[in-house]
Amino acid sequence: MHTTHPLDANDPLAAKRAAFSLPDDVIYLDGNSLGVLPAHVPARMQEVVANEWGQSLIRGWNEHNWIDLPQRVGNRIARLVGAAPGTVVACDSTTINVFKVVSAALNLRPDRKVILSDSGNFPTDLYVAGGLAELLDQGHELRVVAPEDVEAAVTDELAVLMLTQVDYKTGRRHDMKALTEKAHAAGALVMWDLAHSAGAFPVDLAGANADFAVGCGYKYLNGGPGAPAFLYVAPEHKNHVRPPMTGWMGHEAPFAFDLDYKPASGVDRMRVGTPPVLSLSALDAALDVFDDVDMGDIRKKSVSLCELFIKEVEARCPDLKLVSPRNEAVRGSQVSFRFKEGYALMQALIANGVIGDFRAPDTVRFGFTPLYISHADVMGAVEKLETILADRLWDRDEFKKRQKVT
Ligand SMILES: *Cc1c(COP(=O)(O)O)cnc(C)c1O
Repeated sequence: MHTTHPLDANDPLAAKRAAFSLPDDVIYLDGNSLGVLPAHVPARMQEVVANEWGQSLIRGWNEHNWIDLPQRVGNRIARLVGAAPGTVVACDSTTINVFKVVSAALNLRPDRKVILSDSGNFPTDLYVAGGLAELLDQGHELRVVAPEDVEAAVTDELAVLMLTQVDYKTGRRHDMKALTEKAHAAGALVMWDLAHSAGAFPVDLAGANADFAVGCGYKYLNGGPGAPAFLYVAPEHKNHVRPPMTGWMGHEAPFAFDLDYKPASGVDRMRVGTPPVLSLSALDAALDVFDDVDMGDIRKKSVSLCELFIKEVEARCPDLKLVSPRNEAVRGSQVSFRFKEGYALMQALIANGVIGDFRAPDTVRFGFTPLYISHADVMGAVEKLETILADRLWDRDEFKKRQKVT
């Protein structure tokens, strides 16, 4: 299926594809939802399970330094998102981290009651913020505006501006630096969700002066299904925030078994319970693929892949309407189109070896992950898409039956 394309000729990332274990008959445009398995991870997991767990048993916590995995993995992610060492920890899920971080942020602005977010945010972030406001029962309000209205909605009522940088559905990307500045000028704190940013393009949390961030381990970071997530606390806050979940792994000295809680110094206080060693080890190993990669190269290729895809689809599939921004500067690493029978179309594509996904009610979404996707893949995917639309191959009952996960 993979022929050649001239734009792949001088690709500095071309050799990276061999670092991944991809089925031969698949063009995978869904690394924004679940990243691909790096080829060396199974052997590493075999080692962790059979030797570290199997042989070391409880001694593994010290012998293999399992106990420090959250910081170790956190520091590796920190490099990818422009954060200083010691400000990122890998733990829990993105959803749980949103809860912890928004709660800690609200606590730093006790006289303010508004959490501002936008309707392009991923629902779980909104559910959590709304649920937290209810739980606190102190009159907090979750205010949700359209993405393009966020800037104008920043007022001095805000405690926290809570945004996802890249819209999961459309790929629209917020200006992190400008919005953070605006919120700070209004006296608010800012939390960025980097679920569709980390590993997808250069992120500069420190440069943007962000207060908090969270992100996902199983999307562009390739940590595997349900991989641990991460969170970031800026240096100026990390010794002041009050964690909402005062678990023993966030204690200053967990193994003192003190009956009184004292928060650990730094970002470690945001940890809660025992780290999931197996999944953290998989994420840790998966991050190796980024070790010798320049995020600038990733961005450059990502833009080139997305531009080619948009151009070809618009020329060859007139029934699809572009949902993503046309301007690359305000787009992440994904491209979405609208089609009335989007679900069936995506099912037909998947049956033909092109894997993307569908977001209700009518959006087909394609993620472009430059570490393992080539311009030849883009052309291969468009070819299938064109045939399926032209021949109405999607118009079959079997492609219209909704499964649990879309
Ligand atoms: C993928 C994603 C999540 C997922 O959260 P989980 O806790 O891993 O289920 C949360 N927020 C955003 C913005 C996402 O894109």
